Amino acid sequence: MKNYKELESQNIVHTYGRFDVCFESGQGSILKDTSGKEYVDFTSGIGVNSLGYNNEKWVKAVAKQAASLQHISNLYYTTPMIELAQSLVEKSGLSKVFFANSGAEANEGMIKTARKTNESKHTIITLQNSFHGRTLATLTATGQDVFHQHFGPFPEGFAYCPANDLDALKSMVNEDTLAIMMEMIQGEGGVMPLDYDFVQGVKQICEEKDILLLVDEVQTGIGRTGSFLCFQQYDILPDIISVAKGIGGGLPLAAFIMGEKCKDVLQPGDHGTTFGGNPVSCAGGNVVMEYMTEEFFQEVKEKGAYLRARLEAIPHIVRVNGMGLMLGAQLDEGIAVRDVINACNEKGALFLSAKANLRCLPPLVITKEEIARGMDVLEEVLSNWK
Ligand SMILES: *Cc1c(COP(=O)(O)O)cnc(C)c1O
Repeated sequence: MKNYKELESQNIVHTYGRFDVCFESGQGSILKDTSGKEYVDFTSGIGVNSLGYNNEKWVKAVAKQAASLQHISNLYYTTPMIELAQSLVEKSGLSKVFFANSGAEANEGMIKTARKTNESKHTIITLQNSFHGRTLATLTATGQDVFHQHFGPFPEGFAYCPANDLDALKSMVNEDTLAIMMEMIQGEGGVMPLDYDFVQGVKQICEEKDILLLVDEVQTGIGRTGSFLCFQQYDILPDIISVAKGIGGGLPLAAFIMGEKCKDVLQPGDHGTTFGGNPVSCAGGNVVMEYMTEEFFQEVKEKGAYLRARLEAIPHIVRVNGMGLMLGAQLDEGIAVRDVINACNEKGALFLSAKANLRCLPPLVITKEEIARGMDVLEEVLSNWK
């Protein structure tokens, strides 16, 4: 397509600082742009394309479902949704699923469910530097002041605690505290994992004070960190979690999953969605779920360890945070991450940023060779940084 930049600029609202690349296709973890140039992908569409590009099983299941029934609404039963719910319940250790379309929508539903679970308490404590979405309630839940501008009035009932500060949390908790909501690894916040001890402390406070524990697994979930859900590596069982990004393998799909305390709170008429649990998305999700085995998680951990080791050996990278294939690299002060990403794009490797950090969220099926190919690019770029 000629003039795509000009046409975009004329017709689409400018809310994204897009990179100057137009993509056409992909295979495995390698993408191709419209000029045929190849890129190793460490973004996976922001943690979405968990099975990479042109995964044979996934493409087949999605195409088959699209050819038989693409949508029918939640007024009727469809089997892909029921099958997916069963595996989500089984693998999460929680009890019931509500399907939605996006991370923000799943978080909205999680917040609504928490509110209805105990209508006598009103405050949800979230963490500073968190990110929970772009709708009004999830923007408010997001613990970053930059998001709390322009769009007011914002909904009430949120308070913000510094991450990993148990004393601060203890001093904030009171009779009005309904829930504590957090990401196990703050993704947009820079790939910052919570401390194990902090999470254990949160768990104890929630048990003692009858406070609900809500975990946003939108970025960390579905195998990303080397377990099905990240909370499973912290020895807790939340009351509600949200998942999105990686669950559909590339199609819009999300869910919030409720434990025993909350599973029957929502009743007919309380919540709904037109597209949530769409059969084509769920058919894709069912293929993603087939990959979610202990063996696969072990591979994610091993590839993550290799990626981490490569990152740690690159000049100007001072620290690497994260788990599995969700890693953030802190750069030397004065190096602008956007410039590094642009230079890597130039040489055929795609990376994300998160705050000032370089962020890697490759497809979970990325091979060691593909990781090496991308790391060679990053190493070359940073070794020659002036
Ligand atoms: C991306 C993200 C969201 C928002 O998801 P959308 O699908 O963009 O609405 C919410 N929470 C976390 C932790 C995320 O990473």
